[in-house]
Amino acid sequence: MAIQVINDKCRGCKLCVRACPFDAIDMVGKLAFINEKCTACAQCVAACPFNAIEQTASEEGSVDLSAYKDVWVYTEQRAGKLMNVALELLGEGSKLAKEIGDRKVCAVLVGYETDHLIPELYAYGADVVYQIDYPLLKNFTTDGYTKVMTDAIKEYRPEIVLFGATHIGRDLAPRIAARLDTGLTADCTRLDVNTGNYINYLKKYTTLDTAGMDPNSEDKTLKQTRPAFGGNIMATIICPKTRPQMATVRPGVMSKLEKDETRKGKLVEVVHNLKRSDIRTEVVNWCLSPMRKSSAPAAADLGTPQGLN
Ligand code: SF4
Ligand code: SF4
Repeated sequence: MAIQVINDKCRGCKLCVRACPFDAIDMVGKLAFINEKCTACAQCVAACPFNAIEQTASEEGSVDLSAYKDVWVYTEQRAGKLMNVALELLGEGSKLAKEIGDRKVCAVLVGYETDHLIPELYAYGADVVYQIDYPLLKNFTTDGYTKVMTDAIKEYRPEIVLFGATHIGRDLAPRIAARLDTGLTADCTRLDVNTGNYINYLKKYTTLDTAGMDPNSEDKTLKQTRPAFGGNIMATIICPKTRPQMATVRPGVMSKLEKDETRKGKLVEVVHNLKRSDIRTEVVNWCLSPMRKSSAPAAADLGTPQGLN
């Protein structure tokens, strides 16, 4: 569903601004303007006394799937260190990009003063690094990271976006998917684009009848497999009508590429318009929990921000 203002009817009374619980309406001159925070809750539709806001159903087939290219990996970093799962996903993303053909695997690096991480991303397979570097992004905040990621995806239109199924990835990915009005499969354990490989997997590990499936199919839709019903069955989910196709993947499931420090890639510094007022929380401090300090392996020993204000 989409919400839009009918400019000819808007009288600039601002009642919709007061009614919106998500701070998703700006006044531009005397006209209401729906911004990217909109969740399509429709409260403003009822609040407008001039019938100037309408809710419309998304038109089936209206997304031009061919306009979306490349595989993006949200390369999560905390305190200036990359999470292991980010590197694993670069390996998986490289495999998917190769299978689709004529695609790049791209790392999206969000934070502040993250330049030192870029060579490592190239070394683990990134063809392109999209860097979003800004003081307001120093610590993870749901609002700030969601906004810059959503805006970047809208601008560059990746075909697939992968996130680690960490606390942060599980927070971020569904919010971005909702704002983009696209699908998200959580906690995937297997990803395929090549139908032949997918059929081989089904034959080996499932009882599904694959007789009617064409191993030479040109279909390059992302087949996202995950445990369902308490792990008793494996479900494969596709996202055939919208883009990007988004998935979170459990840490430790996919394989990293072998590190190659001679690999080089392209850096894209993403222009954004994040403002302090876009972020409703302030991280005043963070520390490692005692349990993590004493027992966690190095890759996971990065703590979770605490003391959110
Ligand atoms: S409530 Fe309706 S008329 Fe008033 S500013 Fe919002 S859209 Fe315009
Ligand atoms: S639909 Fe809901 S979130 Fe979107 S602008 Fe209207 S009130 Fe705000």
